[in-house]
Amino acid sequence: MFDYIVASPFNMQTTDGTKLIARGEALSLSSIKVAPVVNNGFLIEKNVSGLLDIQSACETRISILMEKLQLDIATAKTRANALAASLIARHDSLKSFSHPSTEFLAEVAEFNRITKGYNKPITIIDSDTGAGEWAGYNCNIGTGCSHGCLYCYAEKMAKRFNRVENYEAWLIESLRESSTAKCKKYPNWVMFPTTHDITPAYLPAYCCHLYNILKVGNKVVLVTKPHRLSIEAICSEFSSFRDNMIIRFTIGGLDNDALRVWEPGAPSLQERLWCLKYAFEKGFRTSISCEPMLVSCEEAERMYYSLEPLVTENIWFGKMNNVGSFTKHSDSEIAIRAAALKNSYKDDSIIQFVGKMTDLPKVEWKDSVKAVINKYAGDESL
Ligand code: SF4
Repeated sequence: MFDYIVASPFNMQTTDGTKLIARGEALSLSSIKVAPVVNNGFLIEKNVSGLLDIQSACETRISILMEKLQLDIATAKTRANALAASLIARHDSLKSFSHPSTEFLAEVAEFNRITKGYNKPITIIDSDTGAGEWAGYNCNIGTGCSHGCLYCYAEKMAKRFNRVENYEAWLIESLRESSTAKCKKYPNWVMFPTTHDITPAYLPAYCCHLYNILKVGNKVVLVTKPHRLSIEAICSEFSSFRDNMIIRFTIGGLDNDALRVWEPGAPSLQERLWCLKYAFEKGFRTSISCEPMLVSCEEAERMYYSLEPLVTENIWFGKMNNVGSFTKHSDSEIAIRAAALKNSYKDDSIIQFVGKMTDLPKVEWKDSVKAVINKYAGDESL
């Protein structure tokens, strides 16, 4: 569902008969169902409401960029113009959608024919923290992840339960023989994936499983350190499902060096930003996971103001678990960065960060930040 603002009055058929929808009214509607109306110019999606007065939207953006990011006016204007172009592109994308191509559907049919259901890829998430804050079920189709993030919980679990021997073995991605051909409808969001990523090696099978899951009406949150190849493929084949999908891009900060150190095999910052903008312009629901925050709270705040216009849903902030264990790492760059993060994760910094950000419309806190908030709830001295 997307929120729309009515640009011109029109009659809508409802269960109570014909209703006149007035100019300026806000409606929450399926983007697929309203595509013809958007096409006629009756509705403007909330995220592109700036089209009603694009000059005013640009001026607001310029002020934010100058005030919050201290950009000079020329740079702020360039960035505001780029946003205006993205909003127009998104508006155009929302006018229509494409069903999956016949080639892709043939690929899915063949995949379902030859793939045996030895493993159960979808399981319940038995927790209201971690992935449980985002979905009721998780889906995974492989073991191993070439991104090789140093903080990866899935890698630690795989080693603990002898699924892989060591870090090097974890980097090798092996697809599991699992079938979703007879997928049922689940009562809550499915997070896919949670213990690997949508890397090029997993992509062909990922798309087939994603289709099987979405086809029966499930809602899927895709969490990824995105590869351009993967996001292009998903946006190309799945626009008819975009109401039931949220693409959550993991971006721990606007610092490519930090991303390179902590997530050595994952796409660069530049590639991730390209993917976010692309999915937004293609009309998809977008979100950011800044968990773990790989930069200071101040830098995380800057990231919010920098990327928020391209996010239709929310931006989640959370800390890295066990960051202290990296402070004595043999690689001095990792040790130094871990010490800096440990410092910026201190309660007083987090509380200050929360104080500045908590009323912003798209901010969400992960369990690690909520724990700090709860610890000091009612403390008047803060
Ligand atoms: S992308 Fe996710 S699954 Fe892959 S190594 Fe990083 S944290 Fe682990």
